[in-house]
Amino acid sequence: MHEYSVVSSLIDLCEEHAGKNNATRIEKVIVGIGERSGMDKSLFISAFETFREESPVCKNAILDIIEEKIELKCKDCNYTFMPENMDYGICPKCQGKNLEIIKGREMHLLSLEMMGE
Ligand SMILES: [Zn+2]
Repeated sequence: MHEYSVVSSLIDLCEEHAGKNNATRIEKVIVGIGERSGMDKSLFISAFETFREESPVCKNAILDIIEEKIELKCKDCNYTFMPENMDYGICPKCQGKNLEIIKGREMHLLSLEMMGE
């Protein structure tokens, strides 16, 4: 499952950050999940709950998910915008159809709350 591999690398990333900051515990993990990431939020949460058990650093971490809206960029005029609805085929500025999704397609770590010894 996609969510499991994403969460697995998220935990690795958390441990890496904790190591760099000499933290022994992570209290809270805040991630952003794009609305077009194809990620299932409830699966993501249950995957997180499974994986954190394996990690002494993340064991008691709370997961906070922020859903991120999609953002588009027009390749013709470089205009970036957030589409009002799911029908986002046309640039509102130049009516161009050469659009690229620049945000809202992935999961990324926004912030961590850590505790030292
Ligand atoms: Zn445009």
